[in-house]
Amino acid sequence: LHVEHALGAGQTLPLDASQAHYLFGVMRKGAGDVIEVFDGRSGGWDAEVVEAGKKRGVLRVLEQVRPQQDPPDLWLLFAPIKRARTDFIVEKAAEMGAARICPVLTDFTNSERVRRDRLQAHAVEAAEQCGGTFVPPVAEVAKLGAVLDAWPPERRVMFCDEALAGRGTVLSRGPGPVAPWAVLIGPEGGFSDAERQRLANLPQAHPVSLGPRILRADTAAVAALTLWQTTLGD
Ligand code: SAM
Repeated sequence: LHVEHALGAGQTLPLDASQAHYLFGVMRKGAGDVIEVFDGRSGGWDAEVVEAGKKRGVLRVLEQVRPQQDPPDLWLLFAPIKRARTDFIVEKAAEMGAARICPVLTDFTNSERVRRDRLQAHAVEAAEQCGGTFVPPVAEVAKLGAVLDAWPPERRVMFCDEALAGRGTVLSRGPGPVAPWAVLIGPEGGFSDAERQRLANLPQAHPVSLGPRILRADTAAVAALTLWQTTLGD
């Protein structure tokens, strides 16, 4: 279970209605049971249920049982699409260990209403589901152009360009520690020529193909994260 408070032994943690519902209704836990909690920064901690109500509950933190495990420094930049598919992208990125999730508005992005709090909640659920101790922050939605104007010099970009389908660069990992990277996925309409030009002028950008077929944006996000992990990750 993810909690907002920074964790420490002996702490008492009040649970809100949705946490109580999840733990006592869905997971069938009750008073005296020990569960694992994490705050996203300090690993996994055992906590004992001291009060189990329908809409509230209380845990007491016992001890740290797992160290913090942060993922490699990989950001996912993606253009928001339909709501359910955007939710899917965020959920899968959190499961697959993206370190930061950044919705970006591109020239052909149609859906501009992005609720950051809702996407963050999906990232928390995904981290809980896969037993992680890290929750990737979801950034405020921003224009791709502005993001690239302030792009950090050391961070490379795996630019997934549908125009290269089947004939893109193959990336391979160099010696030494894994560099900071980002994966960039476009919207259903793809990238504009101006964006392609902008990325061609960004020395950190490496255009890649995700194979010979044009994938839907949500499929492309999962495929790109997998490709990054197998070729460039740890
Ligand atoms: N409307 C575009 C077209 O017909 O060419 C397709 C856009 S695709 C549905 C959405 C995004 O997924 C693209 O902008 C790109 O980032 C990624 N993508 C999909 N298939 C790809 C491929 N074969 N190679 C590289 N990127 C791909």
